[in-house]
Amino acid sequence: MTKAAVLRALDGPLAVEEIELNPTGPGQVRVRLAAAGVCHSDLSLANGTLRQPFPAVLGHEGAGVVLEVGEGVTGLAAGDHVVLNWAPPCRACWFCEHGEPYLCVHADDARSVPFATSAGEPVYAGLGTGAFATGTVVGAHACIPVPADIPLAEAALLGCAVLTGVGAVTNAARVQTGQTVAVIGLGGVGLAAIQGARLAGASAIIAVDPAPAKEELARSLGATHFLAPHAGLAKEIRALTGGLGTDHAIECVGRGETIRAAWSSTRRGGTATVLGLGSAQDPVTFNALEVAFFARTIVGCMYGSTDPAIDVPILLEHYRAGRLNLAALVSDEVDLAGVGEAFSRMRAGQGARTLVRFA
Ligand SMILES: [Zn+2]
Ligand SMILES: [Zn+2]
Repeated sequence: MTKAAVLRALDGPLAVEEIELNPTGPGQVRVRLAAAGVCHSDLSLANGTLRQPFPAVLGHEGAGVVLEVGEGVTGLAAGDHVVLNWAPPCRACWFCEHGEPYLCVHADDARSVPFATSAGEPVYAGLGTGAFATGTVVGAHACIPVPADIPLAEAALLGCAVLTGVGAVTNAARVQTGQTVAVIGLGGVGLAAIQGARLAGASAIIAVDPAPAKEELARSLGATHFLAPHAGLAKEIRALTGGLGTDHAIECVGRGETIRAAWSSTRRGGTATVLGLGSAQDPVTFNALEVAFFARTIVGCMYGSTDPAIDVPILLEHYRAGRLNLAALVSDEVDLAGVGEAFSRMRAGQGARTLVRFA
């Protein structure tokens, strides 16, 4: 039997229940989870900001060990360590063929198909992954192999926070050595974005978060300044950068207000990269003069514009060389029953990543 944190309805409580995973079908892989990070997108799926069928097992930032491979699966075997990819590319659609696998038209396919049952009722996997469970069944293309000597609890963080945060800086924004970067919102993704900016050789990294408790950690990961968000934030950032604004701003919140602040914080000709997924009811407004006048670029970014099959091994090289601190992203560790507490902390803007560890 598999234990899972099951969400029965929108905004409902999470209850640890036994579920029965579907048999491992052709092209599928059964994975025993070792750890899963709790991401803000899990909360967005739970509260209806992002679409989710119920009952559901959320969790999409997971790593574990392959238990069984289905018919036709090559390149993976029982015992392999893997990180899960919540937007696995088909490798055949227009986007996949044009180097944009993070926009694959089939990336969401697994989300609308049940992966398990509970008391005979079908259960859906959040983002097709269902990592808040001791086990899951996913497509083989959703499994990225990782060497067995990498701790799985740290590898799990690669699956969403680190691919998204580092990828936004290196793949989407393409920050260059010596450039200045503002990072707005310091959850797990924002803390990864700070490290991405440091890896890219940014000359100044201005971290922005309302929680003063995050300053020390942000600075230890590479931030050169720490600011609290307020109405005059863009002005304060311009003052710190010789009156110009930063070359880049990375928005890791997904709110109209912070997207607007990110854009206004960059210099004329600068780039604001938005990875936060917000609500369809939350507009961002620009006046008709400023768009051309400031000649800024706004870049939208899904999954860090990464191809996890390529980018996970690159991130692991940084990790092995001591250039990427994965453990630093984790502020709390819980068991499956603690996912609800992690949601409460996210609602309150407290802490960074909560990591669920499976016994
Ligand atoms: Zn996520
Ligand atoms: Zn595709």
